[in-house]
Formats: sequence, C-alpha cells, structure tokens
Amino acid sequence: MNNLKEEIIKKLYELYQRETAHMSFACKKGCTACCTQNVTMTATEGEMILNFMVNEDRLEETNNILRQAKTTYIPQSTPNNSCGDQNTADENWDFTPCYFLKENNCSIYPVRPFACRCFFSTSPCSLDQPAEQPEWLASLNWMMIQLIEHVGQGEFWGNMTDILLELSSQGRYIGRDWQGEGIKVDRARFRLLKAEPVREFVVDPLAQRKIELFLQRISKTAINGGTIGSILGM
Ligand code: SF4
Ligand code: SF4
Repeated sequence: MNNLKEEIIKKLYELYQRETAHMSFACKKGCTACCTQNVTMTATEGEMILNFMVNEDRLEETNNILRQAKTTYIPQSTPNNSCGDQNTADENWDFTPCYFLKENNCSIYPVRPFACRCFFSTSPCSLDQPAEQPEWLASLNWMMIQLIEHVGQGEFWGNMTDILLELSSQGRYIGRDWQGEGIKVDRARFRLLKAEPVREFVVDPLAQRKIELFLQRISKTAINGGTIGSILGM
C-alpha cells in the first residue's frame, strides 16, 4: 500500500505544480528564509525522503542530522482534525534553519514534502516580513494538505524531525549504532499524531468553485488501473 500512497502523493505534487505554474512569485533559487524546522508531513513523505537519502548514499549524513536535531515545533492537531486552524501562531514556532539546507539550497529538493512545495510568497519575505499569498492559493494549499493527510490516514503525521526519527528506528534506514538513541526515538513517537481522513474541506467561500474544479480533476486522474478518486473514496 505504501508504494501506492507514494505514487498518489507524487501525482498530487505534479497536479499542484501544474495548477500553480502560471503564477508569479517573489521566490527564487537561494532564497531560503522560509526554510526552517517547522515543516510537517505524513510518514509516506518521510519514507520518500529516507529512500532518496539511501539512493544518494547519504544515510550517514541523515543519522548525524537526526542525532543533533531538536524538535521544538510540535503541532497540536493534524489539518484534518483542526477545523482550519493552521497552527501558524504556535509559540513553539522554530526559526532554526532547516538541516537539509546546503549552500543556500534544499539538498532534498526532488522529494521535499508538500509543506515546502506550497510555500510561496508574492513579496520577498524574511523573519520580520511574513509570506503573502492570495486567499484562493492559501485555500488551495490547505485543501492539498488535507488531501495528503487523507492519503496517509492511519499512519503518523507531525514534525519532519519526529517523522524521520520514528521511521529511522524501524531499522530499514539506519545502521546498528542507531540502537543507542532509543529514548530520543521514543520521545519523537510520543509527540507524533495520527493522520486522519478528510471529514470536510475547509475552503474560503470565494475560492470554492476554483477548488471544486481542481478536486474534480484530481479525482478523475488515472493511477494504478483506477482513478485517484476511486482509490481515495472521493
Ligand atoms: S517564501 Fe519568501 S523566503 Fe521563501 S523563497 Fe519565497 S520569497 Fe523567499
Ligand atoms: S526540506 Fe528543503 S525546502 Fe523544505 S525547509 Fe528544508 S531545505 Fe527548505
């Protein structure tokens, strides 16, 4: 099932990229003020990152990153359980630069999670100047985040560091010497939440029609002998 989940998530990334390709943003290569450790994601997205690191022969680097990483941003609810509260005003918001940044570029760019893919701004932003997005795009992003959680329902959802720590403890990715980090992994697992199905999409009424049309396109998209809609029960 996880391969199918991965295929669906990749297809959702692709559809989203096409939907937003015509827009112009202030974002450009090397602009990284938004790359902090507040990233959240599903376990499937975490597996995609770890598989990428295995293929790139960067597992030792991953071990070192996870040993040193501290989780300060801990979401209290998943998107599908939060009634549209996007956890943006959390007092634990952590502005420490993301550990995957290398020479001002994302070193896992092909497999960066959706939370990174949807972070655009129409004006240059910084620590003092938050990102700006049109309302409909913020709504579209939230719908996609809900949908990706729906794909991962039943698995862990939470802070990127905690997801990667939890997956690493399964022994598929990390070598024998990881065993000594049991307490760190237990704490990460304790902080994680369970991904839930969509009960209803939280959409700005002005963006509703646009998002409905996009959802219909997603639903009809062919995958694995069926459609995304038939597989996800949409
Ligand atoms: S969201 Fe802001 S910091 Fe991030 S790339 Fe765009 S302009 Fe730069
Ligand atoms: S994973 Fe990549 S895109 Fe996402 S915050 Fe880290 S460096 Fe930035």
